[in-house]
Amino acid sequence: MHELKDDSIDRGLPPVQPVWKENIFILSRAFVPLVLHQMAYIAFPQYKWPFALAYPFYILCFMGFALQVVTRMSGYCVKLGTFDEKQIGRDRTPDKSVNHLAGGILAYMIIRTGIDFYLNYDKGVQNPLFDFSWSFPIRLALWEVTLDYFFYVYHRATHEVDYLWNIHKHHHTTKHPTAILAILAEEKQEFLEVLTIPLLTSLVVPMTFSEGYITLAYTIYVEMLGHSGVRAHWCHPILWPLEAFGAGLAVEDHDLHHRFGKSGKNYGKQSRLWDRVFGTCAERIETWGM
Ligand SMILES: [Zn+2]
Ligand SMILES: [Zn+2]
Repeated sequence: MHELKDDSIDRGLPPVQPVWKENIFILSRAFVPLVLHQMAYIAFPQYKWPFALAYPFYILCFMGFALQVVTRMSGYCVKLGTFDEKQIGRDRTPDKSVNHLAGGILAYMIIRTGIDFYLNYDKGVQNPLFDFSWSFPIRLALWEVTLDYFFYVYHRATHEVDYLWNIHKHHHTTKHPTAILAILAEEKQEFLEVLTIPLLTSLVVPMTFSEGYITLAYTIYVEMLGHSGVRAHWCHPILWPLEAFGAGLAVEDHDLHHRFGKSGKNYGKQSRLWDRVFGTCAERIETWGM
């Protein structure tokens, strides 16, 4: 639709990334452990996976999923370029943060899957592919919006209260982040973002084990997408209907959040619903009116 031209000249409007394509990408990868688990059950119906087998298995699969998301986003950055590209290129992971980031990523994988195991593992997990109810798509959307509410409140506070900003500013050391930098934060913030906020959300909007795992996959996908900087009008794969109300989240929105720094705008990480409600939306620049 939009031809790619030389970087030095104006490339026109960014292309639109189809939502269906991203849902196929997410679901085809996120279902892998559930399919394998189900096959094992069909082959050995007497054997129920103990926690010590299932937990590491799902952590590894979740890591594999995250890796595929990062690879996809990096590929699209090369293909389509990134936002605000005339100003500056993307930031690399700061050398002094490499170990910290690697630890943070590992903790993220262990804790987020841990929440799902803690809340749901014993309940009917023998048939993981049949562990879904018809209302899952609705609850998934509700879960994301609820998570975003808790996140909004906490995130806005970190920008407005100086003590909390000292913690959150680590995440803002990058003005032009990449997918992998989504997780870069200070320990106290990681604790809240990785454990407390999603745990609270899962208590408000309950899920079964398999539903919880697919929800995790969608959530990390959006968190990484939001930091990828890919120059495209690329919306949330589930909450895209909010676009019609000016409350959807696309890549440019969180990218702008990083450029604003402490002064803050676009606090939501799954939508701009709460930013609309509380008047903290920033106008899009390169995808304005799309
Ligand atoms: Zn922030
Ligand atoms: Zn961020």
